[in-house]
Amino acid sequence: MSLLIDSSASNRVHTCFGSRCAAWVANSAANDTFAHEVAHILTNFLVLWDQSSSDPSHSTDPANLLASGGIRSVPSTVAQITAPGSTFDRIAPIQVTAMLTSEYSQSEVPEPDSAILLTSGALLIIYFVRAKTAAR
Ligand SMILES: [Zn+2]
Repeated sequence: MSLLIDSSASNRVHTCFGSRCAAWVANSAANDTFAHEVAHILTNFLVLWDQSSSDPSHSTDPANLLASGGIRSVPSTVAQITAPGSTFDRIAPIQVTAMLTSEYSQSEVPEPDSAILLTSGALLIIYFVRAKTAAR
């Protein structure tokens, strides 16, 4: 079991207990901080891009999403975050690969209609079990 806390900041934290991770930020944190914390989890706390010599989880590239809050170029609006070429919250291709192959990534999100079908089937089973039990 490990507890990993980002920097010594009190307004942002990512935590892992074994393989279960969580991230939370205070509303006083920079507007890209939650994405930064989730990126730590998805990259397994290895930045993989312009790695800081003293901290393997943070990048020395201020444009990178995983640069520490002290040097990161923080966008003032979400619209400033764009595809490659942006100066804000960039994710290097090697980081994209790590995130997509993370144990926390899923290749597919279930479609809403399959969730409805599954729920309907479960409700029918419950209905029939209750009806059978009531008939006894
Ligand atoms: Zn961080």
